[in-house]
Amino acid sequence: MIDPDTAALHAQLLTLDSHIDIPWPTGPSPFERGPRHVDLVKMREGGLAVGFFAAYVPQQRRTPENEQAAYERAIAMLHAIRGMGSSRNDITARVAVTVDEILAVKRDGVLGVVPCVENGFSIGTDLSRLAEFRALGARYLTMTHNGHNALADAAIARPDLGDGPIEHGGLSPLGREAIGAMNRLGMLVDVSHISRDAMLQAAATSRSPIVATHSCARALCDHPRNMDDAQLDVMGDVGGVIQITAVSAFLRPKAKPESVTPADFADHIDYVVKRIGLDHVGISSDFDGGGWFAGWRDASESANITAELATRGYDRAALAQLWGGNFLRVLRRAEEIADG
Ligand SMILES: [Zn+2]
Repeated sequence: MIDPDTAALHAQLLTLDSHIDIPWPTGPSPFERGPRHVDLVKMREGGLAVGFFAAYVPQQRRTPENEQAAYERAIAMLHAIRGMGSSRNDITARVAVTVDEILAVKRDGVLGVVPCVENGFSIGTDLSRLAEFRALGARYLTMTHNGHNALADAAIARPDLGDGPIEHGGLSPLGREAIGAMNRLGMLVDVSHISRDAMLQAAATSRSPIVATHSCARALCDHPRNMDDAQLDVMGDVGGVIQITAVSAFLRPKAKPESVTPADFADHIDYVVKRIGLDHVGISSDFDGGGWFAGWRDASESANITAELATRGYDRAALAQLWGGNFLRVLRRAEEIADG
């Protein structure tokens, strides 16, 4: 299906998927081909070099007991993600935390595993936990999931947990402090899932460019998890990146995954590139967290994205930016700000 030139080009790219979920509490070995959208076998097959694997905690009622459990779950998941850095069944994966380590993974021809945390509920109200996550390698924190937490309002409220439409009016004072702490630690501020106001405030608050690790363009698909044009403009202004994601309902209104194609995905990339420039767009799957569509069902089909983008005129340099160069630029900036 994929012509040899495109396949060769894809193999050379440092392909980075900025948001993948892991099984919890237990799952199949990532070193064996299994039922999930991502395992290390499928990553290798699909030429997907680096995955950001999320320690995801679902939002629950904000009691001290639930916050403690969420924190303990996030820590345990980060240890599990770190455990993927190993060699088995002729596959080598390595935990890569810094940009230099991520570049080395590609150079050495092994797979890269980057830890991250999804949902600031996992810190409760204790900002010192951010340093603990960072010490385990976490390079970004998605500030909320669905449902408001102590840090910010979410794009999608959870009335079943007692949420009103708006709680903080964007970020809470603690959320602003958390951003300062993340800047000092070199952790990216992930604005996917937070409300529009919270996103705009995060862009203004963070000293490091913000990222949306798994979101799409609202002008093409009116979903609360997507970013409207004004948000995209701000993302461009602060030097951030939006990583277009493979969730079918974010790509086409109410679409089922089977009816969505790489062309729909590339439409969102094209749109954001035209709106704010090539430097501010990237690629994510949200595999095993709801993302997949016909043509990118799992990590083994990642070259189909390169093929679709190549037919639209993106050359090698542009593809390298979309597939990871832009995200690594922001990650590098976060490292410089943390040091400075
Ligand atoms: Zn998510």
